[in-house]
Amino acid sequence: MNFFDKLGKKASKTYQVTKEKAASLSEELKLKGKISDLKNKIDDLYTEIGKIVYNEVKDGKDVSKEEVTAKCDEISKAKDEIAKIETEILALKKAKKCVNCGEELDLSDSFCCKCGKEQPKQEKVEVKEEPAEAKEAEVIEVNDVENTENSSNENNEEHHEENNNNQENN
Ligand SMILES: [Zn+2]
Repeated sequence: MNFFDKLGKKASKTYQVTKEKAASLSEELKLKGKISDLKNKIDDLYTEIGKIVYNEVKDGKDVSKEEVTAKCDEISKAKDEIAKIETEILALKKAKKCVNCGEELDLSDSFCCKCGKEQPKQEKVEVKEEPAEAKEAEVIEVNDVENTENSSNENNEEHHEENNNNQENN
């Protein structure tokens, strides 16, 4: 009785883990499907560019740059998209790529198992505060303001006296 209880618990736990694994695996397959669609699209674009260039060169025309450039831009966009999806897949698998050869490694690996290259440590970048320079700049600005105020005060006093004289005359 006891034995079967334990067995039951263990089995349900294993089942949960496999369920999670299956979910991330199907997500991975979905993303890989997207990548292969994008790769097909890129191949089509290469073919289209080739046809444009061929037809124009064959007829002795100048290659229309605008049309070719538009297709090249589409290829670049698709490549960016693929790179993004590949990053998503790595995050899903909790993996990283070797900085040297691109081999897929575990996030915690410090060396590549294929080429032996040491991997950069995944430490969070600290934000260093540098307030010293900023404070000096502020002080200089304040001094400048004080100087200009002093020179303009004299002019204001002269205006006041003139106004007083006018009022007495009336
Ligand atoms: Zn490597």
